[in-house]
Amino acid sequence: MNKYQNIVVLTGAGISAESGLATFRSSNGLWNNHRVEDVATIEAFQRNPAYVHDFYNELKPEILKSQPNSAHLSLTRLQHESSAKVSIITQNVDTLHEKAGSENIYHIHGQINQSVCLNCGYILESWNDINTETICPQCQTCGMMKPNIVFFGEALLYMDKVEKLLRNCDLFLSVGTSGVVFPTASFVQTAKYYGADTYEFNLEITSNNLFFDHHIVGKAGETLPNFVDNLLKKREN
Ligand code: NAD
Repeated sequence: MNKYQNIVVLTGAGISAESGLATFRSSNGLWNNHRVEDVATIEAFQRNPAYVHDFYNELKPEILKSQPNSAHLSLTRLQHESSAKVSIITQNVDTLHEKAGSENIYHIHGQINQSVCLNCGYILESWNDINTETICPQCQTCGMMKPNIVFFGEALLYMDKVEKLLRNCDLFLSVGTSGVVFPTASFVQTAKYYGADTYEFNLEITSNNLFFDHHIVGKAGETLPNFVDNLLKKREN
């Protein structure tokens, strides 16, 4: 364990699957029975903001009541019990890492419990419904709030910080992500290029497999706690 000083964990929808949240591409590219093009692109939001608001409003109660599983909790344990700095880059819009008590979390695709004012940039944190009538608490403009979700066609958040983390990490773990969307799919390549050991945790070996040194196949709720236990044990020896 002392071998590692800077650990970066990239998480995707698969880490939350055992908490009961559907993954993105589990059912023919549909997300909770909606076409991605209708709910997760900037064009869709410009075309029909009410429809897009409804989709995210409907997801909120399910996500709010979901609980972290053993995979999320094992990352918190790693943060608390290892001497390494552990950063979590998540593509998930849920808040299960926070609920598990983790820190140093970068939501590169945004968060379902936030919306952003397209007029002044104010970020409103709320689990309440947002709609085309919502007034921005800062600039008082009506109808300019957008879910703070990074849609296809928009830039990812925190990328400067993420780039630094990837260049400096000595251990990179990718958990529950299909790795088909760039630039996230290339994070492993950057980490590997700068010398990190790289592991993939997934139900299957994904097509994005060239830069992983190790593939741990199985449910993250089982494989990740085991892996963390072993890392922490090595530290004790
Ligand atoms: P994805 O749905 O494209 O891929 C999920 C991956 O997780 C698959 O490769 C699958 O084999 C794997 N997986 C499923 N169950 C697993 C388990 N129990 N253990 C380990 N691996 C498991 O997800 P993605 O790559 O994260 O891209 C989807 C995007 O959609 C996200 O970036 C996010 O913006 C959004 N999304 C978020 C949530 C959430 O916040 N929980 C849920 C669905 C979609």
